Amino acid sequence: MKIIDTHAHYDDRWFDEDRYEVLDRILSDNVLAIINMSVDIPTCEFSLSLTERYKNVFCAVGIHPENIADTPDNYIDILRTLAKNKKAVAIGEIGLDYHYDGYDAERQQEIFENQIKLANELSLPVVIHCRDATEDMMKILHRTTPEKFVVHCYSGSPETAKELLKLGAYISFTGVLTFKNAKKAVHSCEIIPSDRIMLETDSPYMAPVPFRGSRCDSSMMHKTAEKLAEIKGIPTEEAIKICNENAVRFFGLDIKS
Ligand SMILES: [Zn+2]
Repeated sequence: MKIIDTHAHYDDRWFDEDRYEVLDRILSDNVLAIINMSVDIPTCEFSLSLTERYKNVFCAVGIHPENIADTPDNYIDILRTLAKNKKAVAIGEIGLDYHYDGYDAERQQEIFENQIKLANELSLPVVIHCRDATEDMMKILHRTTPEKFVVHCYSGSPETAKELLKLGAYISFTGVLTFKNAKKAVHSCEIIPSDRIMLETDSPYMAPVPFRGSRCDSSMMHKTAEKLAEIKGIPTEEAIKICNENAVRFFGLDIKS
């Protein structure tokens, strides 16, 4: 069964040599649709150009917390205009990242929260990235709750997952779910209801086992779906079907045959 990749970065330099060959191949093979994320204004524009080229490639527009340095003052106005495009189906990826020294927590929080407000104004779902900043993310989500949101590449605890679910979150898993040391992600996956789970690659990163370490593309996602099926005790086809339905509903995708 063809699968929907809800989070990928085909603008990444790793695809510079063969981007369109890869997309042509996987979209005619086992990939039904892709949502390409953006991390700053130039990648928003690139993502939109990809959606023009492929009928079943959609995108999110937004500023990633690691890319806030060059953000123009009028970023909200720019994003509002870009988000008017029908194939911009979400605001993302946005959030908090305190992983590397030198981050500006205050500015990250301000940009994150402003983008949630924009998403709510436009009734668009939000794609959230959070690394080493769970407490501050929860604070913001309680204060300014997105109408609809997904926490991507989830590897947090079941306790945090429960708190997120109460706020209405969807939770999305990458190939990390297949890693031997991903016990927390697996335990969380066990307790998340099937109608709140989505799958993604975060391509070109996070390739699932047995591709771990290599450049990841959406065609590898079936391995993550197999793992999800195993955790939930259902057939792989069923897991793919459920996740595809969740993605279509969450992002309001208009997939063309
Ligand atoms: Zn990403």
